[in-house]
Amino acid sequence: MARDIHIVGGGLAGSEAAWQAAGAGVRVVLHEMRPLRRTEAHRTGDFAELVCSNSLRSDDWENNAVGLLHAEMRRAGSLVLRAADAHRLPAGGALAVDRAGFSAAITAILSAHPNVEIRREEIAAPPADWRLVIVATGPLTSPALAEFIRELTGSEALAFFDAIAPIVHRDSIDMSLAWMQSRYDKVGPGGDGADYINCPLGEAEYAAFVAALLAGEKTEFKAWEKSTPYFEGCLPVEVMAARGPDTPRFGPMKPVGLADPRTGRRPYAVVQLRQDNALGTLWNMVGFQTKLKHAEQVRIFRTIPGLANAAFARLGGLHRNTFINSPRLLDAELRLKARPGLRFAGQITGVEGYVESAAVGLLAGRFAAAEAEGLRSAPPPPTTALGALLGHITGGADAATFQPMNVNFGLFPPLDATVRGRDRKRAMARRALADLEKWLDGADGEVKRMANSE
Ligand SMILES: Cc1cc2nc3c(=O)[nH]c(=O)nc-3n(C[C@H](O)[C@H](O)[C@H](O)COP(=O)(O)OP(=O)(O)OC[C@H]3O[C@@H](n4cnc5c(N)ncnc54)[C@H](O)[C@@H]3O)c2cc1C
Repeated sequence: MARDIHIVGGGLAGSEAAWQAAGAGVRVVLHEMRPLRRTEAHRTGDFAELVCSNSLRSDDWENNAVGLLHAEMRRAGSLVLRAADAHRLPAGGALAVDRAGFSAAITAILSAHPNVEIRREEIAAPPADWRLVIVATGPLTSPALAEFIRELTGSEALAFFDAIAPIVHRDSIDMSLAWMQSRYDKVGPGGDGADYINCPLGEAEYAAFVAALLAGEKTEFKAWEKSTPYFEGCLPVEVMAARGPDTPRFGPMKPVGLADPRTGRRPYAVVQLRQDNALGTLWNMVGFQTKLKHAEQVRIFRTIPGLANAAFARLGGLHRNTFINSPRLLDAELRLKARPGLRFAGQITGVEGYVESAAVGLLAGRFAAAEAEGLRSAPPPPTTALGALLGHITGGADAATFQPMNVNFGLFPPLDATVRGRDRKRAMARRALADLEKWLDGADGEVKRMANSE
């Protein structure tokens, strides 16, 4: 009989790992500490809670590596992608979801799965008699378990800062100043080319806003946090402003592809809000993650035209993310070299982002299920997004300078040099899907068939 798999953490990675392993016919025990113990960022007891943005980023599989990862995960029967597709909100070319519906669906599906047992408890140290464990406790791993991992790996955990953006009640936005439009009027699934709320800023308004961001009171770092870096893909907006007054205008406040209907012209800068729930009552400020103190966020963000009376459902904040030195510590199947019964998955392995975390959960679930059944599992080819990501964290990256990474085409083996520009990405994407199909139908075929059957 196959051994049980214990999965610690029911976030993006743990939920996907549980689904994949349970779908392969293996019994899974999923240990999640919420709602008994909270983290600094989670708010509910649901599985796969999205702690900040409600976007799983671009869904364009031919031109964007994260879109390709979506496509591969759909083909591999991903629960996270299935729930995201079912709870999709209009967001141009992005895959944005109703966060409550998304997490509730994943919670309901796993709770009803005959091969999944759910235990609401904190695991401070996986007992030695658990033979197959997946640690998927994320960037906010509880301190007791983080200490256990530190002792086991004999090294300090690595860390970086990630920030959260505020969410605004729709009925508090002044739509006589703001307007609905997607950049370049791009029509995505379920959308009509007018999916975002846009708040325009003139040159003087922008200068005053940037000055206020710079002067605003920030949350202080503790002494031991001062050397911790930010994740470059998710910089607080005031940190961007400190790099140069125009930096936000070339980042989240860029006005390209937008025209203010009151003037017919592109504004000097813009603040965009994206729908956050199915009802359309909550909208989040795109790229406005911040470590400004809460009262300062309210004061400064209300100077944005259209947001003078903004009511905030949630304000921004900053959190320290923990991850391990995977290239040094893990083997090609995500097992800890020092204790192969322990696998790691999700953001703790040094990938960054909801989708990447779930993708590593998908792989860990499949690898563990194969091991439980006494089967051999072949890692996905490096030409696929799943394989490129796995290769990066388990060997491709330099252990000495290892930092969290989003999936990107730079992680894929190069193509023939004659293929250039957009054609290059398309050719890589097509190669990836063809190779993924072979992988799914090949050595791992038995696991795949079972994972896909519901
Ligand atoms: C503040 C912040 C903002 C972020 N914003 C974004 C964003 O906007 N977009 C994006 O793509 N990514 C974002 N990320 C990064 C990342 O994608 C998410 O953190 C993602 O949820 C990681 O998935 P995971 O499964 O690894 O961890 P999580 O989803 O955090 O899941 C880990 C789970 O483990 C549980 N747990 C922890 N310790 C224990 C224990 N000892 N015993 C039992 N259970 C335990 C937790 O309660 C949690 O449910 C953000 C991260 C942080 C911290």
